[in-house]
Amino acid sequence: MNFHILTLFPEMVMGGLNTSITGRAMEKGLISVEAINIRDYSHDKHRHVDDAPYGGGAGMVMQPGPVCEAYEDLCGRLGKKPRVIYMTPQGKVFNQKIAQELAEEEDLVFLCGHYEGIDERALELICTDYLSIGDYVLTGGELPAMVMIDCISRLVPGVLNNEVSAEVESFHDNLLEYPQYTRPEIFRDMAVPPVLLTGHHKNIEEWRRKQSIKRTLERRPDLLEGAVLSKKERKYLEELLAEDSETDRQEMKE
Ligand code: SAM
Repeated sequence: MNFHILTLFPEMVMGGLNTSITGRAMEKGLISVEAINIRDYSHDKHRHVDDAPYGGGAGMVMQPGPVCEAYEDLCGRLGKKPRVIYMTPQGKVFNQKIAQELAEEEDLVFLCGHYEGIDERALELICTDYLSIGDYVLTGGELPAMVMIDCISRLVPGVLNNEVSAEVESFHDNLLEYPQYTRPEIFRDMAVPPVLLTGHHKNIEEWRRKQSIKRTLERRPDLLEGAVLSKKERKYLEELLAEDSETDRQEMKE
């Protein structure tokens, strides 16, 4: 899996992604990350890449020329036109499902805007996808690109030591992950749930699934609509919902 980042701040993205799990994945050759400096494609003697917006208004806009040329140069090197994702608060909000879909690609280009964004004509010419990391505005697309690359990299075979861990994490089956515990067995009078110490895999699995359902109901009930549940698990969810409405009724009475 090869990630190509078009940015004005190559050192920022490379500094972040060179560390920890993504850094090790690069060392092992499981992923490659290159940051292409859009400024290198400026024709201006001061290496400017931005100008004032037509029609007036605050801030500066990144010019289309350097962005398109940086992309075209990359396509020439690769001998193909990979998918180009523009990091923008105006895009669809990135999630685990989108990450899984993107992880199927061999090459991905992440285009990072800055200032007030990028001239619309460059976006029309080269972008295939528009993605956001949430409904808030950041100063640049570098952090969103790092977030997405980190998430997609974990799905590349071999990147996580334990392959299973990406499969049972939060958002798998549209559920949040169950609570996790490690040594010591008792911490400040709080004991690890006894079932986890039994070594009985089936009971542990059942307990974890129930905890996932309970936690999702408490923290992200919106996910439950698309959750993949067995008949028994659906019944458990209905019991939890009935308990909740009973508590609501009691509270109304008091
Ligand atoms: N004027 C733009 C607008 O209102 O849509 C926002 C520009 S923002 C200050 C500068 C750059 O940061 C954007 O071009 C984009 O690349 C990036 N950015 C900001 N917030 C983002 C978000 N939530 N998700 C992804 N990228 C974001």
